Amino acid sequence: MEEKRLYIVGIGPGGREDMTIRADRILGECQVIAGYTVYVDLVKDFYPEAEFLVTPMRQEKERCIMALRSAASGKKTALICSGDSGVYGMAGLALQLAEDFPDTEIEVIPGITAALSGGAVLGAPLGHDFAVISLSDLLTPWEVIEMRLRSAAESDFVICLYNPASRKRSDYLARACRILLKHRDPGTRCGLVKNIGRSEETMELMTLGELESADADMFTTVFIGNRETFFSGRRMITPRGYRNV
Ligand code: SAH
Repeated sequence: MEEKRLYIVGIGPGGREDMTIRADRILGECQVIAGYTVYVDLVKDFYPEAEFLVTPMRQEKERCIMALRSAASGKKTALICSGDSGVYGMAGLALQLAEDFPDTEIEVIPGITAALSGGAVLGAPLGHDFAVISLSDLLTPWEVIEMRLRSAAESDFVICLYNPASRKRSDYLARACRILLKHRDPGTRCGLVKNIGRSEETMELMTLGELESADADMFTTVFIGNRETFFSGRRMITPRGYRNV
């Protein structure tokens, strides 16, 4: 019997060179590539043979079902996500929905998540223990997000913020900074990277005090250092240990 298989592929931050060789090979072999319009547009030119299935933002369930149906029909199909598909991505949802498609095998292909690709742009901000927190309250109550921010700040984790803002949530980064500032020095070293791996990529270094009024959008990843994080020229570095304790 013909094998029915859906690949859930993390394509990394955007550029083809930041994709893994495995992800690139699998996308090259797939007859159908499904995803959110913006990500499909990023990869479309590289796989001219493939058929593309796109859905707008937020329609994640529909996107997963569309991809599962395609795979179940016998077409080798990939569902693509930015970064890694398991990090605030669709891998979990697709695996859950796959229970209704028992004959279809699911394979998850990892990708470089924004914390890592953005970290490389800044230098080495994640050299010690770090926490990744999403500021999106679409699926998480804001009180839970606040609790995580507080705990991470109190424990002196380096903090990496995903989803720091959107059109509807323009003040979330400022709100997060006010919570962090209760436990951390305003001089704490921070970095902000936008459009990682894309032609419009930019980065900025600043203090936590300055981060409160920084301009972030939905293609921004924010880094907040620990007590030991420092700047060396235009690079942000968190040493692997604590020197002065
Ligand atoms: N699965 C993705 C994360 C999805 S959540 C991953 O592993 O990277 C969406 C958030 O990820 C964005 O709001 C932003 O904070 C971050 N992000 C994803 N791609 C990015 C990019 N190319 N540049 C900057 N930030 C990015």
